[in-house]
Amino acid sequence: MAISISDTETFSTDKKTTEQTPLYYANSSDNRRVNVSYHYNPEVSQYHYGALHPMKPFRLMLTDHLVISYKLYEKMDLFTPRRATKEELLAFHSEDYINFLQTITPEKTAKLPDQTLAQFNIGDDCPVFDGMYDYSAIYAGASLDASRKLISGMSDIAINWSGGLHHAKKFEPSGFCYVNDIVLSIMNLLRVHPRVMYIDIDLHHGDGVQEAFYTTDRVMTVSFHKYNGEFFPGTGSVDETGLGKGKNYAINVPLRDGIDDESYIRLFKSIMEPLISKFQPTCIVQQCGADSLGYDRLGCFNLNIRAHGECVKFIKSFGLPMLVLGGGGYTPRNVSRLWCYETSVLNDVTLNHKIPNYLPTYDWFGPDFSLHPQLEGRIDNKNSKKYLESVKQEILEQLRYLNHAPSVQMSEIPPDITGLTEEEEDFIRELNEETNRPDQIMKDETREGELMV
Ligand SMILES: [Zn+2]
Repeated sequence: MAISISDTETFSTDKKTTEQTPLYYANSSDNRRVNVSYHYNPEVSQYHYGALHPMKPFRLMLTDHLVISYKLYEKMDLFTPRRATKEELLAFHSEDYINFLQTITPEKTAKLPDQTLAQFNIGDDCPVFDGMYDYSAIYAGASLDASRKLISGMSDIAINWSGGLHHAKKFEPSGFCYVNDIVLSIMNLLRVHPRVMYIDIDLHHGDGVQEAFYTTDRVMTVSFHKYNGEFFPGTGSVDETGLGKGKNYAINVPLRDGIDDESYIRLFKSIMEPLISKFQPTCIVQQCGADSLGYDRLGCFNLNIRAHGECVKFIKSFGLPMLVLGGGGYTPRNVSRLWCYETSVLNDVTLNHKIPNYLPTYDWFGPDFSLHPQLEGRIDNKNSKKYLESVKQEILEQLRYLNHAPSVQMSEIPPDITGLTEEEEDFIRELNEETNRPDQIMKDETREGELMV
């Protein structure tokens, strides 16, 4: 193949630059060792919602490529998680719905009555596509794996960019989400954590998670989102605050179009700081939907990647165990930039803003080839200072009604908390029998009667 002189020059210059400039450097703000784990099953990126559908699972492959090209794998424990089992999905979802998901195919869909499709909310947003049950079991399996690593103390921060599908309901899919991996993970975390805080910075209201924990004081859900009563999913007004025991434990921050970096960060910090101080979560789940970035295909905010990442950095600074999940995001190149950047934030390193030129999908990141394209200014900012101040005041008022951090009774660690499947249990049992050493334990077994605070 003939290579023009200019190509050669560019190549040699870039090569030299890459050699001289490190891909990242450690921020070394403090010396505490934070164990970060990265949970990714590459199969998840192979599924396809349909050519015209805005949700593109290949954005996860792009993200993973970027993370690898920056060599962030050097900093983290890497796991390729197994799929969630049907039993695990049934911890939240109804059996009817999961059976439907498991058996439906595009061919069968054509023969089903409209009523059945309507019953399970099948349509343009949530189509039936090949392998959708497997796809759901893969991303949910990764979130559950991440939650188990947090529970066992192996990880302080566990990341699953394929998770964060916050709209899925107990009986039906919604807004491109089939199975609610967030609810499943929080349910798992609640087995050992007295209080879990859920923080959602997706463009859309985190309705599925809010609904699931609407009546409990053990989970505080906080969602920042676009709201006008009509925008999908239509919920998320500041007046939705929880019910019964859960009264005031659901927090909603409704925003208008075009919010910019400075006002978003200021509002986020001024609300999250008092909420965390008052609720005192023992674990935080943060959903990092990327559709709140400027220039998102379905979006209407003006956030840059650094501003979105600042919200993750701020939550990390509290030093609590964190489950970090993806979510929406419909301009794949920016989604992958964001989640790679946030991976670096969670690992406390600063990345070279120039995307490594040996990335297989390098061409996708032109013309700037930077991790930080300019994303603000497309939409007019309709959030006046006065409006944001009034939202903040309403939420701080709600906070006054909160009791101090609710406590729960100490309880035994459930015996199945390791998340091993029956086959895995059998395999380990056989191995133990083979070695003929009954005292040898090959998994993180909890002792009977052991108590957790
Ligand atoms: Zn969204």
